[in-house]
Amino acid sequence: MPELPELEVMRDVLSETLVGKTIVAARSIHPGILKTVEPAIDDLIGHSVRAISRRSKHLIFTVDDTLHVVLHLMLAGRLILCQSDTKATKATGFVLSLADGDDLRVIENSTTHLVRVHVVRDPREVAAIAKAGAEPLSEAFTLEYLSEHVRGRRRQLKKTLTDQTVIAGIGSAYADEILFDAKLSPIRYGTTLTEEEVTRLHRSIRSVLHWAIDEIRAEAGGAALTPHGRSFTRIYKKTNQPCPECGTRIAEIRYAQTKTYYCPHCQSSDKTIKDRRAWLTR
Ligand SMILES: [Zn+2]
Repeated sequence: MPELPELEVMRDVLSETLVGKTIVAARSIHPGILKTVEPAIDDLIGHSVRAISRRSKHLIFTVDDTLHVVLHLMLAGRLILCQSDTKATKATGFVLSLADGDDLRVIENSTTHLVRVHVVRDPREVAAIAKAGAEPLSEAFTLEYLSEHVRGRRRQLKKTLTDQTVIAGIGSAYADEILFDAKLSPIRYGTTLTEEEVTRLHRSIRSVLHWAIDEIRAEAGGAALTPHGRSFTRIYKKTNQPCPECGTRIAEIRYAQTKTYYCPHCQSSDKTIKDRRAWLTR
């Protein structure tokens, strides 16, 4: 699933390509992908794309300032730009055709259709956006804000970091990178953190996200719409490889569909987290 860093770079690429272009057709192909009825999807036709922004894990296409297409790519969604006469594959779920002969297509290569598109007059009509927490790279994301949310509730750090109503845009992959950078265990309860540790976590959230954006820009550049393997990560998907800090083998915890990667030495006082039921504690 693309997280804040990938979506930021995608937004840049899409802005360069789409802003100023007029929509000549809009089609929802997969049943259920379009979650709204009013305004009608045809209301987009004849208007131009004014801006593309990101909020949480959503991309927002603002069309003539009064209409917004809000897109969440979920687990398997991706975007392609192609010529309108290119044959659409079965995986094509949603299409915006532009006056210059190009299409923006939403592709979902999955049997479970999870991608969501909303056409709205105000992005906050999308519940997940209305409820979204602070953007971690914005001024609103202060140390006090983080401290209040991390220390104010008995909950494991990874859960807090990936809770979109607390911090917007961080998923499992960058939560692991952030906790590794901050040398904190993913299952540690936020209530046990010292002031110094919260300060470290705040710094790591910002620095890891900025670093990831730079890495993706350098690695993918104009091809940022194509999913890539996050080859630059230090801990994510590095099970059994040496920790870049101490050389200990990186470990993983599986819970439900999600894997968590951590260094037992740097983050867990040399203890391996064995009991996956540890994740069931709320
Ligand atoms: Zn280590």
